Amino acid sequence: MTSNKKIMILSGDGVGPEVVHETKKILDWFAKHQSLNFDIQEDLVGGSAYEKHGIPLTDKTLSDAIEADAILFGSVGGPKYDDVDFEKRPESGLLKLRKEMDLFANLRPATVFPALANSSTLKPEIVSGLDVLILRELTGGIYFAEPRGIEELPDGEKKGFDTNLYTTSEIERIGRVAFDLAELRNKKVTSVEKSNVMMSGVLWKEVITNLHKNEGSKIELSHMYADNCAMQLVRNPKQFDVIVTDNLFGDILSDCAAMLTGSLGMLPSASLGNKNKETGKRHALYEPVHGSAPDIAGQGIVNPMAQILSLSMLFKYSFELDKESELINKAVSKTLEQGYRTKDIFSKDGKLVGTSEITKNVIRNLDELVR
Ligand code: NAD
Repeated sequence: MTSNKKIMILSGDGVGPEVVHETKKILDWFAKHQSLNFDIQEDLVGGSAYEKHGIPLTDKTLSDAIEADAILFGSVGGPKYDDVDFEKRPESGLLKLRKEMDLFANLRPATVFPALANSSTLKPEIVSGLDVLILRELTGGIYFAEPRGIEELPDGEKKGFDTNLYTTSEIERIGRVAFDLAELRNKKVTSVEKSNVMMSGVLWKEVITNLHKNEGSKIELSHMYADNCAMQLVRNPKQFDVIVTDNLFGDILSDCAAMLTGSLGMLPSASLGNKNKETGKRHALYEPVHGSAPDIAGQGIVNPMAQILSLSMLFKYSFELDKESELINKAVSKTLEQGYRTKDIFSKDGKLVGTSEITKNVIRNLDELVR
């Protein structure tokens, strides 16, 4: 029996608790069949925390989350909190977690399971078997840097402005993550900026190039302008392995890559912090890309795959359980090949099932894969 791994579960609001409930069944399966022991702690976040404590993330929850080896997060938010003060809104709880734990590296895989190649708006041959990882810098750049604001000019006009600012160390730390991740994959990194027109892009390219020289010799590095990258993602997405880019371009390109896969209900993500020099561990939060989907909450029809695949990422990136992570991916893939579909990914020749039934089939496939 391996040593206990501490997972903090924050399921949140709307469909969050439903998809997390299903994912816990997968965790239970690993505890029972693979002798993996997890220390699970659960707490409230977002709207559910606001209702109990008047704030979306208590100090106690935050410090417990910081102590954990990994966080499995559901989703937060919903229309009933629309009138709540901004800093008490459900989403502020998630932003505070990201900020306090300095989760600067956002990993968004865009993977197309062969059985879902027809769900994409692109031709199946373009996306079938796609496996791209977009790495977005999450805590710097234009969404945070100063100066920013809206000011009135002497002639009565107004100006709105933001600053895209990156320091050498900010670029180096995200570049390092990119090379580390590529090492675990196909050893190719594409660094994306607009060094043709932006000074922050000139520095980005220079720092990534130097880092590659000094630390990334096993990795094939190429550079691409962000506008070309958007075009290449829809023209020939399989040319990419890891794409590393800043906060703004990452926001846009990861949504673009997400749509190649066809459904929000299938997309996991991870947000990682720096490695602790003593323990070698990183703070890490794993969550589906989708939100709390209030329109379908409580109906038993939400697709739990994005959350289940977030657990697969947690196994791989926080616990180095590569085999177990791959087992989850294979069980999900087989379930889709067997035609099981929740409503969001349903096509006429599939078998329409609800949230718990599709999970039951993932678990049956896990059983069969280890038999
Ligand atoms: P959403 O992702 O919740 O839903 C968009 C659409 O996709 C909805 O029609 C929904 O039913 C569908 N959908 C989403 N996930 C699905 C799944 N797993 N299975 C089947 N269908 C699914 O986005 P939204 O409607 O813009 O936002 C709803 C709430 O979620 C808002 O309060 C928003 O702020 C919040 N939100 C939270 C997060 C987060 O917690 N990280 C992220 C995005 C949005």
